[in-house]
Amino acid sequence: MRKIGVLTSGGDAPGMNAAVRAVVRKGIHHGIEVYGIYHGYSGLMNGDIKKLEVGSVGDIVHRGGTMLYSARSEEFKTPEGQQKGIEQLRKHGIEGLVVIGGDGSFQGAKKLTEQGFPCIGVPGTIDNDIPGTDFTIGFDTALNTVLGAIDKIRDTATSHDRTYVIETMGRNAGDIALWAGLAGGAESILIPEVEYKMNDIIERLNRAYNRGKKHSIIIVAEGVGSGVEIGKEIQERTSFETRVSVLGYIQRGGSPTAADRMLASRLGARAVELLMNGKEGRMVGIQDNQLVDHDIIDALSQKHSIDHGVYTLSNELSI
Ligand code: ATP
Repeated sequence: MRKIGVLTSGGDAPGMNAAVRAVVRKGIHHGIEVYGIYHGYSGLMNGDIKKLEVGSVGDIVHRGGTMLYSARSEEFKTPEGQQKGIEQLRKHGIEGLVVIGGDGSFQGAKKLTEQGFPCIGVPGTIDNDIPGTDFTIGFDTALNTVLGAIDKIRDTATSHDRTYVIETMGRNAGDIALWAGLAGGAESILIPEVEYKMNDIIERLNRAYNRGKKHSIIIVAEGVGSGVEIGKEIQERTSFETRVSVLGYIQRGGSPTAADRMLASRLGARAVELLMNGKEGRMVGIQDNQLVDHDIIDALSQKHSIDHGVYTLSNELSI
């Protein structure tokens, strides 16, 4: 393999830049030309492609976002769109592609591979919702951003004897809420994977109040419902002064943590090794602290699930 491409797709995640850097430098180290495809699959179809040098990826390892930009494209979901992309890759003499993104982006990589173009997926999304890897690039940074917010909000909650509902990202996956909730000592954690009962939340609040705790934190993943509505209901059904904080897009940005930079560097480099070894249609990941790779189709047919042990522990510790 003489020429490979790399793109970032779907929601941006801190550490994507470190992964791009690893793909480019690992490739160049082995004498491979590496091409950056800008604006995800949309840029791929439009031929937004430039050769990257060692210096092209300098000074990005510590930056959030993605220097290759990201985009979502409906057209690429069609076989015609995918063919357009493959034509552009062939026009540039590119023989393999590294796709850094979430499960939607992996679907695209799977389609390209099925149509005869070798792809390797690198899991990059803050949601940590890709099967076949314990962690995705960006999750640790988002988790620490949320944790920082919980700690700050807790100061005000304590000073004013208030209950705070904090809404995090996570439409289908509750990992950010669950991990940040446990690490931040939340009273209740509401995630899409586990049905909640408002009576239980209120009972927990009352129990904490009766043992002398005058402030509480409740974490709600956005997929469960509106944090504002949940806060309103708590206020109506209790005597506790309740406030809501929706964290929003701050969770997607920021300088990647050491853990995310390490993960991104290792996974990006491993993706290049797989292409060099003639592998295709695979995703790379980390499981039990070992780098692994799986067939993308097999991986995507699994359902990501939360660690139920962590969920149980969060309940046990927030008595
Ligand atoms: P995140 O989890 O952070 O949202 P993602 O990669 O899941 O990231 P999506 O918007 O689902 O984000 O997907 C990114 C892009 O991948 C889509 O805009 C589309 O171009 C492509 N894609 C998604 N699903 C498919 C599919 N079934 N077939 C081909 N391409 C797809």
